[in-house]
Amino acid sequence: MIRTRFAPSPTGFLHIGGARTALFSWAFARRHGGSFILRIEDTDLARSTPEAVQAILDGMNWLGLKHDEGPFYQTQRMARYQAVIEEMLAAGTAYHCYMAPEELDRLREEQRAQGLKARYNGAWRPEPGKVLPPPPAGVSPAVRFRNPGDGVVAWDDLVKGRIEIANAELDDLVIARADGTPTYNFCVVVDDFDMGITHVIRGDDHVNNTPRQINILRALGVQVPQYAHLSMILGDDGQKLSKRHGAVSVMQYDDEGYLPEAVLNYLARLGWSHGDEEIFSMAQFCAWFDLDHITPSAAQFNTEKLNWLNAHYLKRADAARLAALVLPRLQARGVTVSATPSLPAIVTLYQERVANLNELADAAEVFYVDIAPKAELRAKHLTPEALPALADFVAGLPDIAWEAAAIGALIKQSVAAHGLKMPKLAMPLRVLLTGQEQTPSVDALVVLFPRQEVLRRLSGAG
Ligand code: GLU
Repeated sequence: MIRTRFAPSPTGFLHIGGARTALFSWAFARRHGGSFILRIEDTDLARSTPEAVQAILDGMNWLGLKHDEGPFYQTQRMARYQAVIEEMLAAGTAYHCYMAPEELDRLREEQRAQGLKARYNGAWRPEPGKVLPPPPAGVSPAVRFRNPGDGVVAWDDLVKGRIEIANAELDDLVIARADGTPTYNFCVVVDDFDMGITHVIRGDDHVNNTPRQINILRALGVQVPQYAHLSMILGDDGQKLSKRHGAVSVMQYDDEGYLPEAVLNYLARLGWSHGDEEIFSMAQFCAWFDLDHITPSAAQFNTEKLNWLNAHYLKRADAARLAALVLPRLQARGVTVSATPSLPAIVTLYQERVANLNELADAAEVFYVDIAPKAELRAKHLTPEALPALADFVAGLPDIAWEAAAIGALIKQSVAAHGLKMPKLAMPLRVLLTGQEQTPSVDALVVLFPRQEVLRRLSGAG
């Protein structure tokens, strides 16, 4: 069975690159009827925080990327790492190293001074016929992995193709520090093995870790998973995606009024393609997703395309659902939302015209708060020519049926009586009711308000 994992380090929010990694790992498991595992790599106690764990869970939840197993926390697996270290020491695939940190620093400095790559010199590595010095008293040793001394470590990366590294390039990795804590690369290896991971899909910032991890897996005599390293995501400007580019946290997209399905559809196409398909559901994506169509080159973020997708999904979304998403945004602004005008009805009228949920909230807000149309708009539209038609309209309002057709008929009648065209009355109505010149069709707008509220807003016509 296919088993994938997403393994974030909880040192910040779930960013866009992490979300795409999670999405691809999730989709690959879905595609093959496998299992998607969430693992929190929280061994770096100084940098990991509970808030960051929560931010990751919130981001995954918002996107709807449900894990089948987990979350597993590395900090809860320390005994297991310790046991594997003991096994490796006993098997001779790891050894104690007593080199003091200052000595290691000195060694590295010397190597650099000679123009060499700084690396551990194998001083404590047992070799046949080599006599090791007696362990210095009172020094607790680190544990190092006994990396193969020669040959190459190679894998067929499912995105990048074949990668080969000479073992001579890799020194003996510390797998447990002198204080006993296991190191990052080691925990990943034990976890990937214990969790039966078949496909490691992760960012290509981890390519350098892979040969070390493969060597340790081999030393443990276990199956090596397949690896797919995703290239990074660049900002709109071609630079590495960073805070400078604004929204890099997934939840910030929520704040900015994007729908999760738009963000997911966008991320799915970020470095992966299925012909020319641009718009598809997650069910469709999971049916199509493969690792063969991931581009090895960096993907460039395109905010315009994301906005386009968001507008697309907003147009088609269920109005009641959108109303439920807009409501807390209005409440956060201190707006009291009453039953009339009906928020879902407002949403229905505006959802085709906005780019995001905040714009939808802007549109809805004017229905629930007192508005004061700008003097210049009043002067422009409440002209002496228009006022008599407006007065007729107001006079006719109490007697008509409260429906768009009747309102439309009254507007026509009121302008015709004064030899005017529709916009002469439609514009003052828009301005007095919403404070804005641009609105959906005016009869549809008027009917959203209770009749009394229309009379109240129009009473200020002057
Ligand atoms: N914890 C690593 C990170 O957040 C990912 C490790 C992995 O996927 O192997 O970058």
